[in-house]
Amino acid sequence: MTMKVGRLHRIRLGNEEVSYLLRRSPRRRTVGLKIDHTGLTVSVPARTPQRAWESILLEKSGWVLDKLEAMRARSVPAFNWRDGEWLPFLGSPIELVVEHGTPRARPALGDGQLRVALPDPSDTAALETRIVQWYRREALEFFQHRVALYARQLGVSVSRLGLSSARTRWGSCTSGGSIRLNWRLIKAPPSIIDYVVIHELAHLVELNHSPSFWQIVAQLCPEYAVQRALLKEQGAHYHRF
Ligand SMILES: [Zn+2]
Repeated sequence: MTMKVGRLHRIRLGNEEVSYLLRRSPRRRTVGLKIDHTGLTVSVPARTPQRAWESILLEKSGWVLDKLEAMRARSVPAFNWRDGEWLPFLGSPIELVVEHGTPRARPALGDGQLRVALPDPSDTAALETRIVQWYRREALEFFQHRVALYARQLGVSVSRLGLSSARTRWGSCTSGGSIRLNWRLIKAPPSIIDYVVIHELAHLVELNHSPSFWQIVAQLCPEYAVQRALLKEQGAHYHRF
């Protein structure tokens, strides 16, 4: 993916926090909105004040949200459960190798490959079950380490850590200190996982999204706005399976 030049901004449109890239151009005369597979880009004439393009975004929020949703859905092809496919894991692709044989205790990861043995390698349902089980185990183990690390730094205690598979949420927490993280997050780079972990842990201090909440998040994750935008952008890919 090529990086676009510009600054990342955020705005609340309806129920959604939308990240967008702002580009200032001396040659532009009007504010332009563009939505493609990388998300929303707002191009403005050189000295446009923020409230000017923000009011346009708010006015066109219905259109922007529909278009973003359609773009996310369209850009994600269905996943094929078969040998040779690429699986996302901690931000890197690993190759799925399906072998004929008695199932091992667990699929084995090494040399950029995940090897899975099945009595019938063409049994896609069995393959999916075994891989998802593997992901969930890896996820829980990884999350436990990160939650312990950041809970210590924030001085909060977590009563319970569990996995979720919610379609729309990456994490949740209760005032009692129980945290749930989506197992699919293990597909994302550690920097994104850390952001979600820190976000949920910060809720144990501030159970809202107030400026003081974001200050706590920023202490441990100064780049949180970037990680948040990346998760929004790539989230649909993590939901392929
Ligand atoms: Zn939150």
